Amino acid sequence: MNPLEYLKKNEKESLEQLKDFLRIPSISAQSQHAGDIRTCAKWVADFLTKTGFKAEVCETGGHPAVVGEYHVSDKVPTVLIYGHYDVQPVDPLNLWKTAPFEPIEEGGFLIARGSTDDKGQLFTHMKAAEAYMKTEGKLPCNVKYLIEGEEEAGVDNLTGFIQKNAKRLAADVVLVSDGSQYGRDLPAINFGLRGIAFVEIKLTGPDRDLHSGSYGGAVANPIIMLCKMMASLHDENNRVTIPGFYDNTYKATQWERDQYAKLPFDAEQYRASTGAPKLWGETGYTPIERTWIRPTLECNGITGGYQGEGNKTIIPSWASAKITMRLVPNMKPAEICDKIEAHLKKICPDTMKFEIVKHAGATPVQVPTEGPWLAAAARAIKTGFGREPFFTKEGGSIPVVETFKTVLGIDTLLVGYGQQDDNAHSPNERFSIKDFQRGCLTSAALLDELSKVKL
Ligand SMILES: [Zn+2]
Repeated sequence: MNPLEYLKKNEKESLEQLKDFLRIPSISAQSQHAGDIRTCAKWVADFLTKTGFKAEVCETGGHPAVVGEYHVSDKVPTVLIYGHYDVQPVDPLNLWKTAPFEPIEEGGFLIARGSTDDKGQLFTHMKAAEAYMKTEGKLPCNVKYLIEGEEEAGVDNLTGFIQKNAKRLAADVVLVSDGSQYGRDLPAINFGLRGIAFVEIKLTGPDRDLHSGSYGGAVANPIIMLCKMMASLHDENNRVTIPGFYDNTYKATQWERDQYAKLPFDAEQYRASTGAPKLWGETGYTPIERTWIRPTLECNGITGGYQGEGNKTIIPSWASAKITMRLVPNMKPAEICDKIEAHLKKICPDTMKFEIVKHAGATPVQVPTEGPWLAAAARAIKTGFGREPFFTKEGGSIPVVETFKTVLGIDTLLVGYGQQDDNAHSPNERFSIKDFQRGCLTSAALLDELSKVKL
């Protein structure tokens, strides 16, 4: 029996084991579940130990992380598999049709908190390794697991843990299954995330709100000055006007743009889902390209002056705005912050005092399209799902993926087995049992395909 046959033969058992995993209410955000978190970490570590890994529950300063290691040879690649065993809170409980931590099968889905995010997806990788051990007695490549317990908690002890354990976690590529396919039966490999840079600016005119009758016409209005500045940040082609903003930014290859053109995408449906009267964006790019491969600038909030009931006839003392910029490869958050600072200072009228606060951002990441990893992952998906995957990117950023790149220097393959409508973070979270099974096969095939990559 080979590993794939083993997984097919043991589908029922795998599902029952996943249910055990799901029964542990490992809610990381709620302190009354701290004990459940520990129980869950131990469950994961015990499973890996039984499989043949050197596994350990590691302290991070917050909820523990589980690290598992299996070394077969220095001649084959090392894969780092990341996932999280913690889950979101279950409130509002009255909207659940079943008890969140009593998994049930219904209509081809497994319903439980954590079923898709991320226990179900993570477990495919644990079963994949087990299938090799049970059939071939060893793994085809070196495998390390980093399975954290704080992904949903909004705190970050993991970055420090990765920094401290950089040597132990060293690998050639990272594998993450904690997301969605492109659509139903449309598996995809996400190979890039945009970065982000964030600034807040404030314009101050008079040292207090002034009477608009007595002073109006003689003193500049900070809100109007700020709006003029904000409005000038895009040109008639909706390109950002900050000098140097696009300097040596990554240019998507024709291959890449061809991949996006192949994606089933209905612009009208997409527009309708936003509720906006019309789509918008940089001339020369499709909506997918505008959100995945082009850098952008948004004003997230603008404030100043009187916003209470009725009238207050003033020239406000100040106005402020929050601005974020989404970045594509080769753009550095700190440099972009410096560029926008220089530009805004230059265009700020001399009737205003200008202040800016620059926040730390996130660096964009991308798996090289010409490297071996994407092709290997694509073959694995073909094996597991019976069809070629789509290649996608994501407009937002995932902090841990950036950490893997900046701290460990390794690229991350995001191979999500879930669906957008799996109700992750919502009541009645679910995971298609078929996707779980295809995920197990894909995860196993991935280990084999990645083992063949020549370093
Ligand atoms: Zn998740």
